[in-house]
Amino acid sequence: MINPQVARSLAGAAPRSFWLDQPDAPDPLPALTGRVTADLAVVGGGFTGLWTALLARERDPSLDVVLLEARTAGWAASGRNGGFCSASLTHGLANGLERFPAEMPLLERLGAENLREIGETVAAYGVDCDFALTGELNLATAPWQLDGLAEEAAAARALGHEVEVLDAAAARQELNSPLFAGGLRYPGGNAMVEPGRLAWGLRRACLEAGVRIYENTPAGSLARAGGGEAGLELTTPYGSVRAGTVVLGTGAFRPLLRRIGNYVIPVWDYALMTEPLTAAQLASLGWKDRRGASDLGNQFHYFRLTRDDRILWGGYDAVYFNGGRIHEEQAQRPRTFAMLAEHFFATFPQLEGVSFSHAWGGVIDTCTRFCPFFGTAYGGRLAYAAGYTGLGVGATRFAAQVLLDLLEKSGSERTRLTLVTSKPVPFPPEPVRSAVVQLTRSSLARADRNEGRRDAWLRLLDRLGLGFDS
Ligand SMILES: Cc1cc2nc3c(=O)[nH]c(=O)nc-3n(C[C@H](O)[C@H](O)[C@H](O)COP(=O)(O)OP(=O)(O)OC[C@H]3O[C@@H](n4cnc5c(N)ncnc54)[C@H](O)[C@@H]3O)c2cc1C
Repeated sequence: MINPQVARSLAGAAPRSFWLDQPDAPDPLPALTGRVTADLAVVGGGFTGLWTALLARERDPSLDVVLLEARTAGWAASGRNGGFCSASLTHGLANGLERFPAEMPLLERLGAENLREIGETVAAYGVDCDFALTGELNLATAPWQLDGLAEEAAAARALGHEVEVLDAAAARQELNSPLFAGGLRYPGGNAMVEPGRLAWGLRRACLEAGVRIYENTPAGSLARAGGGEAGLELTTPYGSVRAGTVVLGTGAFRPLLRRIGNYVIPVWDYALMTEPLTAAQLASLGWKDRRGASDLGNQFHYFRLTRDDRILWGGYDAVYFNGGRIHEEQAQRPRTFAMLAEHFFATFPQLEGVSFSHAWGGVIDTCTRFCPFFGTAYGGRLAYAAGYTGLGVGATRFAAQVLLDLLEKSGSERTRLTLVTSKPVPFPPEPVRSAVVQLTRSSLARADRNEGRRDAWLRLLDRLGLGFDS
């Protein structure tokens, strides 16, 4: 039975992403009809595809670039996320140090450059997405989550980051909740953005740069061009594209290149947005510097303010639907929304009575190493990137640079990275895949209930280098 306060708070929530539910949302562009040719065809109009198309034109303004988007640019994960634009390319320091210890200084430098360049691009193209370098807060809500914070801070400092370990009082001075028992404050390394507007701004920049974008245009098949011609051919419902090179940036969706499906599963993540807070409600939080925040369980929440003083509250309940098929109805999950709302009021009891204006879900392209992987096919004419596992707002731009380097075969510093040359461990096929994912999910939830103690299954995954530790 849902707590009546929680039910009331959700009663008026619109079932769609707040970021995309804006009066000035752009009209869809016409679908592709007929046969076109291009030097580069990009499939997918999320951040990966948009950055790839834009950077391709910036690198070579004479390159003829076409972008195909199944619905409208930014409608999927790129327009539904928390808007944490992190410098990290490895889904955080701990994950990076575990998997790419020798490369971390270089990865951190490249990640910092990438974040700086995102800020510069947003400014140069006048993208009104409230880009703000706020840094971030990691907050413990249980004593066991304090373990290891000092070590993490030392590792971060060794890599040149500024970081402060917070006790309970200092954590609550950053953001006032009776649950916060301490944490870490990173004043740099993360910007907050409005992701929908970032996607729309990149779409506009692409169009202005001469990229031909076709929306409501799913690419249905991919093959070598026939008739002895070089290049690849993509078919769409009313047309086709023949291109010298192709980039796939299709996220968690069924990939045109089957092998990508061995490495990625679609995991749903959910978020709530409140109505704008009153000045008194905002003051009761004492939210310093509008820093993006998350808590530190295995199942964690992320939370942030918007420019009109709403709170986005998301995460915690990552859901894999057995079989891995994506259906838009899965974006509405009242059970998860109620759980999130309950956690919200437990964290901020001073906000009792606040309502949620929006509730939505989006699909995350999860892989077993929790950070992006890359590959090529068709003799280097096709390149792909996927697997950001919930931290792709910033990393997609870096990935776009890698994809263009791979197609240019230029042998850059980026393409030599182990991050780029290696792949994650593949998932087993169904139905074992579903069993393994659900077992991992329930073990992580149990670890959170048992003061972080990892059971035999999680310890095995840790030993195999497959363990998730937020
Ligand atoms: C709820 C939620 C919260 C998140 N929070 C954060 C966060 O705070 N910070 C962060 O860094 N990351 C976050 N993420 C992850 C982040 O949103 C993604 O990593 C990023 O947006 C991935 O971009 P993408 O372009 O690769 O994929 P997507 O945005 O999913 O775009 C893929 C596009 O490809 C299109 N497509 C697929 N198949 C075809 C086809 N055959 N033909 C044509 N088009 C096709 C789709 O329609 C889609 O538009 C979150 C994700 C979710 C769902």
